[in-house]
Amino acid sequence: MKEYEIGDTLNLGNCTNCGNVIVIEPDNGLFRPQRCGNPVKLADGSWLCGSCLRKLRIKYPQEYRMTPNGKRMEPYERASELNEKEAKQELEHAHDYLEDLREKYGFHQAVFSVEKVDVKKGGFLKPSFYTVTGHVLYGTFTPLDEVSIGMNGAQKAKISCLDNPHSTVPVSDATVQRGTNKLLIDYSWAEGGEEAAFIFQEKNLNLKPGDLIIKD
Ligand SMILES: [Zn+2]
Repeated sequence: MKEYEIGDTLNLGNCTNCGNVIVIEPDNGLFRPQRCGNPVKLADGSWLCGSCLRKLRIKYPQEYRMTPNGKRMEPYERASELNEKEAKQELEHAHDYLEDLREKYGFHQAVFSVEKVDVKKGGFLKPSFYTVTGHVLYGTFTPLDEVSIGMNGAQKAKISCLDNPHSTVPVSDATVQRGTNKLLIDYSWAEGGEEAAFIFQEKNLNLKPGDLIIKD
């Protein structure tokens, strides 16, 4: 990782909603464009800070899209399609939207919607790796969270780690070791509106697209 230098910062101006100065450090590993705190450029060219963007993501979830060169998937913010006026209006209602959502899902602490499940055998007598990709509807998930599968909570599991939702690296023990290293900022948590991949190591996890993962 490159050492931080003052000259590396890039001032993008003020957040069009809250007025915070948006400074990014494009070359610094810790502050490189990442999922958690990135600002986003709106349709009319104004900027929204990472904190305001995160409030909008619950209604305008993050997606991953293929880069123009077709080489890899990268995060795309649907909120970037709003203009300044629309973003401000949506932010005024963001809190109510979240509360309605929490009520709809029975006030659980956090809810994740499953979109894809990949299973890889772990080897003789070892649990399998389940890579579960989808969106956090609201709340925050972190590695080692104890979660329930489905609203009735009959099945419990522990998230081993979080991973890049479109990682091309096959999941292994190394993924889990890397993913639980607390020094890493990327994928140390996933919150409302983010696309995420949870890795579970279980003998048998009964999980399919459309299921919900619940944290209390
Ligand atoms: Zn802001």
